[in-house]
Amino acid sequence: MNRKILVANWKMNPQTFVEAERLAKAVSDAARKAKGVEVVLCPPFTWLTDLSHKLKFVSWGAQDTFWEERGPFTGETSPAMLKNSKVDYVIIGHSERRRWLHETDQMINKKVLAALRAKLKVILCVGEPLSVRKKGLQAAKNFVKNQLQKDLKNIYNLKPKTHNLIIAYEPIWAIGTGKPDDPAETAEMSRFIKEYLKPKTYNLKPKVLYGGSVTSLNIGRILEYNEIDGALVGGASLKANEFKKIIQWKSIR
Ligand code: PEP
Repeated sequence: MNRKILVANWKMNPQTFVEAERLAKAVSDAARKAKGVEVVLCPPFTWLTDLSHKLKFVSWGAQDTFWEERGPFTGETSPAMLKNSKVDYVIIGHSERRRWLHETDQMINKKVLAALRAKLKVILCVGEPLSVRKKGLQAAKNFVKNQLQKDLKNIYNLKPKTHNLIIAYEPIWAIGTGKPDDPAETAEMSRFIKEYLKPKTYNLKPKVLYGGSVTSLNIGRILEYNEIDGALVGGASLKANEFKKIIQWKSIR
């Protein structure tokens, strides 16, 4: 079985550096001992670079980036700045940013291309709302395909061809609701995404992660599918003991 990627998306938490460091240290310690996983921590920008220079055994990710390299873009952070701060991953297109910041597929596309150019590993989030999923898995696949088409526009112009793209399938209705997707359906969606991105136009072999109400109780059933390469974890990644159990998913099954 391939190494699984476990990404902790802390969102706008915790409120102090002391708490952030405590949590990150506990995870780094667990990651040092864990086998068969790569752990990626994505704290808010305020804590990210301090932590990334201090702690080992985990990789670091940002929760967003901008598409320009430098200049008058108040409040923004460029891909190169991340790369120069021991940050290897960046989450782009999270549904919360699409919703609250009105990020469009066009903006997300520019961010994806800029981040890949800067040699960051991009975790592109896609996923359908409940109204779509109620129509069935095929409707969800169509929705995701449409997002991928727009978010990855012109990716084939990037040279050399990048293998730094990761897709996080996060059905919106499963995020923070305690109602995860059925792992068998997630696996089918993952196969669909991989198949779709394989043809000539894309020629990509992305890893596909699942996100949406992942806990230590359901991680085993999700990761036992070969086609699911890991998980993006929100709420459960803020509790040190819970996230440690997720990291050790193989040994506690
Ligand atoms: C997320 O926000 O990406 C997420 C998956 O959150 P949660 O694990 O809390 O559902």
